[in-house]
Amino acid sequence: MILVTGGAGYIGSHCVRELQERGMDVVVYDNLVTGHIESVPNGVPFVKGDIFDVELLRQTFRKYGVDSVIHFAAYSLVGESMSNPAKYYHNNVAGTLALLDAMIAEKVGYLVFSSSAATYGDCGNGLITEDSPQNPTSVYGQTKLMMEQFMQDYDKAYGLKYVALRYFNAAGAHRSGEIGEAHNPESHLIPIILQVANGKRDHIGIFGEDYPTPDGTCVRDYIHITDLADAHIRALDYLKQGGKSTHYNLGNGNGFSVKEVIDMTEKVTGLSIKRAIEPRRAGDPATLVASSEKIKRELGWKPQYDSLESIISSAWKWHSSHKNGYDKD
Ligand code: UDP
Repeated sequence: MILVTGGAGYIGSHCVRELQERGMDVVVYDNLVTGHIESVPNGVPFVKGDIFDVELLRQTFRKYGVDSVIHFAAYSLVGESMSNPAKYYHNNVAGTLALLDAMIAEKVGYLVFSSSAATYGDCGNGLITEDSPQNPTSVYGQTKLMMEQFMQDYDKAYGLKYVALRYFNAAGAHRSGEIGEAHNPESHLIPIILQVANGKRDHIGIFGEDYPTPDGTCVRDYIHITDLADAHIRALDYLKQGGKSTHYNLGNGNGFSVKEVIDMTEKVTGLSIKRAIEPRRAGDPATLVASSEKIKRELGWKPQYDSLESIISSAWKWHSSHKNGYDKD
């Protein structure tokens, strides 16, 4: 049985669908602070709980016979992490320590961890490999790096086996159209642009036009949520077959600027998107683009959604039919 923390959140819910579709046993553990109960599929057990609650975690591990954890539960906004670092250090860092304590106590030995490209910080314009230096520019990135370090030490001391997946920019929605990205308030680029397309916002603010990139706006590597989910399942299989603890980047290997993403959204939706230049957002590196060669080589992972157009089309399918996310339209 696999326990998914944050399984009612954006990335977690897509991973739960993928696990369920492949007939794997899964229990969702989520405090529903940012997650949506509507995204938990019928037939999947759900436990409302906090990752700080070591007792509830231990009981849940025993009740369901949990042997592995996929850990998504975290706050994940770069901008907010700069203005409210306490929230990020308390929840992401201390919360993960509590989860690890519960795992060690109940001898749950496998962990797939949701890490981030934000652990790298500014690496120039080249492709980032797993060996690139990790110097986060945001508190959010710093919390993810600290958690990677804990896991390394817990592996050495207690034999915990983990894979840390460093995602670049997750986007898109499930092919069923039933689940997708729904943050409140929304802060991510593609959903905000689609809210402009939906008429829910007047314009998209471009955070900085003076970065050292071809058009001056930040460059990111967008990766489809279903491709991310597939990587988690491969990582877990790898650990269960005796694989060593390791780290993998997950991206498409192509960088797109904020302006290019807006232009592509105009193409996909056939609508004109109003834009305005705004100041830089604290904590943003200029360019983050992945080399994902290591996971392709070692786990046979291959993204199915390998174009920005297919990723934005998938996101638009969800947003155009769920203008208010999981709330009734
Ligand atoms: N961004 C922007 N306007 C927005 C939201 C985001 O210009 O309203 C930029 C942001 O500065 C970053 C990129 O879009 O360079 C992707 O941001 P997002 O928050 O989607 O993901 P992150 O890179 O923080 O994981």
